[in-house]
Amino acid sequence: MSELKEKIEKRRTFAIISHPDAGKTTLTEKLLLYGGAIHLAGSVKARKANKHAVSDWMEIEKQRGISVTSSVLQFDYQGYRVNILDTPGHQDFSEDTYRTLMAADSAVMLIDAAKGVEPQTKKLFWVCHRRHLPIFTFINKLDRFGREPLDLMEEVEKILQIKVYPITWPVGLDGKYKGVYNRLTREVSLFKTDASHGSKQLEEFSADIDDPRIKEMIGDELFEALLGDIELLDMAGEEFHIEDVLKGELTPMFFGSAMTNFGVQEFLEKFLEMSPAPQPRTLLNGDVLEPDNPLFSAFVFKIQANMNPAHRDRIAFMRICSGEFDKGMTVYHAQSGKPVKLAQPQQFLAQERTIVEKAYPGDIIGLFDPGIFGIGDSLSDDKLKLRFEDFPVFPAEIFARVQPKDSLKRKQFEKGILQLSQEGAVQVFTQKHVGLESFIVGVVGQLQLEVLEYRLKNEYNAQLVMTQLPFTVARWVYAEKPEDIEKLRGLDNGMLVYDKKDRPVILVNNEWALNWILQRNPGLEFLVVPSDK
Ligand code: GDP
Repeated sequence: MSELKEKIEKRRTFAIISHPDAGKTTLTEKLLLYGGAIHLAGSVKARKANKHAVSDWMEIEKQRGISVTSSVLQFDYQGYRVNILDTPGHQDFSEDTYRTLMAADSAVMLIDAAKGVEPQTKKLFWVCHRRHLPIFTFINKLDRFGREPLDLMEEVEKILQIKVYPITWPVGLDGKYKGVYNRLTREVSLFKTDASHGSKQLEEFSADIDDPRIKEMIGDELFEALLGDIELLDMAGEEFHIEDVLKGELTPMFFGSAMTNFGVQEFLEKFLEMSPAPQPRTLLNGDVLEPDNPLFSAFVFKIQANMNPAHRDRIAFMRICSGEFDKGMTVYHAQSGKPVKLAQPQQFLAQERTIVEKAYPGDIIGLFDPGIFGIGDSLSDDKLKLRFEDFPVFPAEIFARVQPKDSLKRKQFEKGILQLSQEGAVQVFTQKHVGLESFIVGVVGQLQLEVLEYRLKNEYNAQLVMTQLPFTVARWVYAEKPEDIEKLRGLDNGMLVYDKKDRPVILVNNEWALNWILQRNPGLEFLVVPSDK
């Protein structure tokens, strides 16, 4: 195997998707603990709390004490090089969260055992599912009272419409959680609790389920219950085929507790074994680029502006798709058609930023951006000069009308809005007959509106008047006769706008309003995302 191929085979790049409070920070920290990247759990948490104090991210982050950035955490485990994409969650849920998923080869869906599938999990799941990304499910917080494992399995299957195959199964529930049974190896791992409260790796006792010591250690009652569950799963459950996992049609499920480390190692090992190495990527012309192509290529999936207000710098985060990255190399930038030198590359490791000399497919690097990069931009070796397919449009759910406060500053305002839209900070729509005096902006998370306001004022010297609109749903409208769209009936409580490619979009309050409009306008089609058919 070539050296490049070997590097690729050993890399895993994934994101953890979850609803706030499901335990993403805790699980991330435990993965780092098992990976040896940190020695005592607790430091990631501390980083989360202190972030505004230790870094000089945007002023807005300081004010709110939250993170607007997503970067990557890297560690090695049993020969694997693991890249965890850190997706913003919480109040700072935004388009960045979705975009980060574009850089992943798989996702870990984290679910709170007491709460089941929650709204943010669902949204993130669909973005992954649309890309056929392999999804691994970790049911968390098994150390305390939660819902029945079978019930949680069924909920994932029903709500998310994906087949589920539990790889591990809990031994004991509701405060009596003692270990996990691995259905593929038929091994039971029992956890020894210690006084470290999960800050150190757990000691375990593992043996085949037929080993009499297991029954002795967990007692007859739990043992019988476990055998009953296993039989039921084997009889009534799905069959396991790794191809289905890789196509994103079946999610392997694991049970554990990130807090006490129960089931974390079992999950990590199986996940690394089953999850895909860096995958081929589709180009704009429909061709597919293999990661072991020796020529370098990468795309930008996130731009972080003003990380250091004193320098007004921006960092473009890119994911390497093929070849080898060398510090200081010059590559072709498809969107400008110009060569660029990749200077001062940074990698964001568990604890600090370091300058990176070499990187490979699946790795993420951050580069200082003199203002030339946009979201989705392609960089490649001069001999490739390729362009990756465009990023999808993500469904916005919050809409506002924005106008300049001072009409004399209209030029700055317009320039700012259009540039920020280009950069992917917001989605911008226009209304016919209104011109460029006011725009409608659409965002995924509320914070994006605050960032827009802040950046227009600070970078373009234009203050905003912003009026939030009552809409929560946007649909691209297609009709047999496009002229029908302007005469749409039943849009009394909605609005017809146009996206930056001049495609018509309706904004309405809820899904119910969509049906109302459909009934009154035969021959229309509504799409969640635009299609250039
Ligand atoms: P995030 O918002 O998804 O990053 O969640 P955090 O990791 O910050 O966890 C949210 C809360 O759940 C914190 O109070 C954690 O201590 C707690 N938590 C996380 N994992 C577990 C677990 O396995 N068991 C229990 N009982 N609590 C947990």
